[in-house]
Amino acid sequence: MLDQFGRRIEYLRISITDRCNFRCQYCMPVEGLPWLPKQDILRYEEITAIVQQLAPLGLKRLRITGGEPTIRPELSSLVRQLKAIEGIEDIALSTNGVKLPQMAADLAEAGLDRVNISADSLRPDRVARIARRDLGFDLVTAAKAAEDAGIRPVKINVVVMRGINDDEVADFARLTLEHPWHVRFIELMPVGELRELTWDHVVPSAEVLAEVQRMGTLRPDSGPARGNGPAVYHRFADAPGTIGVITPMTHTYCSTCNRVRLTADGRLRTCLFGDHEVPLRDALRRGEPLEPLFVKALAEKPKEHDLLQMRVGGLRALSEVGG
Ligand code: SAM
Ligand code: SF4
Repeated sequence: MLDQFGRRIEYLRISITDRCNFRCQYCMPVEGLPWLPKQDILRYEEITAIVQQLAPLGLKRLRITGGEPTIRPELSSLVRQLKAIEGIEDIALSTNGVKLPQMAADLAEAGLDRVNISADSLRPDRVARIARRDLGFDLVTAAKAAEDAGIRPVKINVVVMRGINDDEVADFARLTLEHPWHVRFIELMPVGELRELTWDHVVPSAEVLAEVQRMGTLRPDSGPARGNGPAVYHRFADAPGTIGVITPMTHTYCSTCNRVRLTADGRLRTCLFGDHEVPLRDALRRGEPLEPLFVKALAEKPKEHDLLQMRVGGLRALSEVGG
């Protein structure tokens, strides 16, 4: 699968729900969003059917995301179905981690390879304030549960927000001295219709990295195997874990972008930002071949996103597009 600019597409991010048990300040309004009607959401068998058609074209790696994927019942059964597809080498999960302690063993047994846990604070009161829900989330417990179940690598995504959690950068970085975890600091994107967080809350990655560098000597690192995503990694001498920064606002990654996205209601999106998408669900339900639609989507995949040029207030929340 090559797109119009010759990029090889082998990675699909699948959003399996638009709902969530959190209401992170940067992602969702407290009252939630107008959720998709159940009948519009792809059934697990339908997701599997789409991946079955994409795998022979070169699709190799999957990430299950949302919304919060762990709140959809029987998640392990989807992992099991996807893992059985020939050509699929790797399945990852993006989660807020709340349900990982109870689910990690089942997910690992079903074939989940890797996990990204989003965690914006190590302090319980602050987690509850940022997520606007107190569900007792504790990052270290969640990450250990994944590790104990054999899900590796464990990556931790931290959205750094000025005046909200930017005083915890060193605490997160210190985790990598003790654990083989990959802590990735993500620049806040003030997207969606949320007015609570603005450009004033954005902490540039360079600033985060400078703070980490003050803790000790950092060396560039290749990061976790199969990283090839948008993070740039570093490591403290002898540390088991690594520290990455992700700068979503720049265009640096678009030229090597190897991914497309499937929304919960079955639209194939070729770029996280903008409105380039091809609906697959109805064609699939009518039993039509999907390949012409994949070809159309790839032909339309934009060269780069235009986040900086857009009125960011008009963009959709990441939970809706499977961020
Ligand atoms: N619920 C899962 C989770 O939180 O990991 C998966 C979906 S969530 C939309 C995927 C990632 O997008 C999370 O790491 C979250 O922190 C990030 N994210 C969401 N909105 C964001 C924003 N406005 N700026 C930066 N990152 C954002
Ligand atoms: Fe839910 Fe993830 Fe969005 Fe937070 S970032 S509200 S956990 S979907």
